[in-house]
Amino acid sequence: MKLIDLRSDTVTLPTPEMMEAIMKAKLGDDGRARGDKGEDETAVAVEKKVADKLGLDDSLFVPSGTFGNTVCVMAYAKRGDSVVVASNSHIYKSEKVLFDDDVCGRVPVIVPQIRGVYNIAELISVLRTKKIAVVCIENSYNFEGGAVIPKNKMREIIDLCSSYGVPVHLDGARIFNAAEALNTDVANLIKGVKSVMVCVSKGLCAPIGSFIAGDKEFIKKVRDIRKKMGGQLRQVGILEAAAGIAIDTMTNYVNYDNIRARKLAEGIQNAKGIYIDMSTVQTNIIKVDLTGRVEAREFIKRLEDEKKVKTHYINDSSIRLVTYHGISDDDIEETITRIKDFCNSI
Ligand SMILES: *Cc1c(COP(=O)(O)O)cnc(C)c1O
Repeated sequence: MKLIDLRSDTVTLPTPEMMEAIMKAKLGDDGRARGDKGEDETAVAVEKKVADKLGLDDSLFVPSGTFGNTVCVMAYAKRGDSVVVASNSHIYKSEKVLFDDDVCGRVPVIVPQIRGVYNIAELISVLRTKKIAVVCIENSYNFEGGAVIPKNKMREIIDLCSSYGVPVHLDGARIFNAAEALNTDVANLIKGVKSVMVCVSKGLCAPIGSFIAGDKEFIKKVRDIRKKMGGQLRQVGILEAAAGIAIDTMTNYVNYDNIRARKLAEGIQNAKGIYIDMSTVQTNIIKVDLTGRVEAREFIKRLEDEKKVKTHYINDSSIRLVTYHGISDDDIEETITRIKDFCNSI
């Protein structure tokens, strides 16, 4: 039986075109300043390409999404300053470093959200009564089954924050999946955010890295923070060459991942002991709630042992399935059959 790995889109491997671009990349020392950029020609070109794609002035390569979110928020908020996040946002729940007293010491202000959209009344009350350095949003929303924030809701949140003079940082790890799901241009979707982080190492298949983007002044500031944090790399064109191909070839492709996730969710939603909130299945992530007696860790282990399907733990009663380049239509059909069989057997 073929192993089908649905744990995460981070398992994607670079495409042959990316490997070729890596071989051919013109390199230099990105840490030696030449104006606002370094000496790596590939890095300069790809950072411009990413900025253009996102409709922002400039962009900067960072080693990971966590690194990118962290340096952006650090640019707005000093130690002790307040940062608005949701309790199950990736930044707060998974990354944690910004709010770790020993490391960054920023102070989280938790505002409730549904499918990535803050409760507006609560957000207003926070903006009114507290000094907030930055409001973080996430689109698509990882721990809500990859749900997307619609364009009008993005606008509402951005405009509201702007009326209080508070910048918005977007954790856009999977913003291209979100843009495809919303059938909109990414630059249009994110218009008004002061900064964004996008991952190229997930569904876009590049091996390593993320970008942050914003206005010139902001990127300059973050470049300094990146250096202090040890995130300035030398011949980074090796990585950015692959990222450039990811931006050129994969940003629309992720729509197929979204479609396959929908198909998979539809196929297994009525399986015994499974509940899926189909309204959240909008991109390439499916959150599956387990309603049977089997706890998530056991479900995951047995599904892998018995049916060769790998999935990811969310909590004791829910798991995550993620589609990506390399998971084909046949794999989806096969997974549906295997999961249904498995659910009938437990
Ligand atoms: C994966 C992810 C990140 C962090 O990216 P890493 O490269 O793993 O550090 C940030 N936000 C969201 C929503 C993510 O899914």
